[in-house]
Amino acid sequence: MQKIDKILVGTHNKGKFIEISSLLPEKIKKISPIDLGIKSPIENGKTFEENSEIKANFFCKNSKLVTLSDDSGLEIKSLNGDPGILSSRFAEDLGGFNSAMIKILEKVKNQNKGTDAQFVSSLTIQWPNGKKITETGIIKGNITDIRGKNGFGYDPIFKPIGYSKTFAEMDYHEKLKIDHRQIAYQKLYKKIKVYF
Ligand code: IMP
Repeated sequence: MQKIDKILVGTHNKGKFIEISSLLPEKIKKISPIDLGIKSPIENGKTFEENSEIKANFFCKNSKLVTLSDDSGLEIKSLNGDPGILSSRFAEDLGGFNSAMIKILEKVKNQNKGTDAQFVSSLTIQWPNGKKITETGIIKGNITDIRGKNGFGYDPIFKPIGYSKTFAEMDYHEKLKIDHRQIAYQKLYKKIKVYF
């Protein structure tokens, strides 16, 4: 069995590149698709799992390297799971995360059906021979007013259950220990640790 000494971290999002890289053992070299001039694929899947696999397959085929990709997003119960797999596009369409968070707070308030929400992350590892494994992690929490400056994306409006701070108020390392990507990675790690 061939050990993995380098991995392409399949994302153009800087926040996610840092998070995914920090999940992996230090001894593994992490490579960005940006450094290899590889663009992003069209994410036309219907689920986080499908989109994660589309990305892993695309980046792996184009780099010929073992690739780890994630697709993630915020699901809000009172908004029927929105913005969900369109979390990134929702913010883009509104001109950034600040406007997107303000819009979400307005919608959640208008619905008046509670603040239950969850972050979801599907992680896929794919080898150049086509072998792939996908695992999904979920962290449940509540939507709050915008609080905190750390992290990225929707971190300032998400407070995980059992904590008093939003993800953006937490020390970055505190978030990384408990978030949806970590939960997905722990499941994946059990299956791939033999390759490290
Ligand atoms: P994609 O997986 O690249 O399609 O984008 C996922 C979207 O969900 C991005 O807009 C992220 O900002 C957001 N998102 C995913 N994970 C997190 C997180 O841990 N904190 C904040 N926002 C997140």
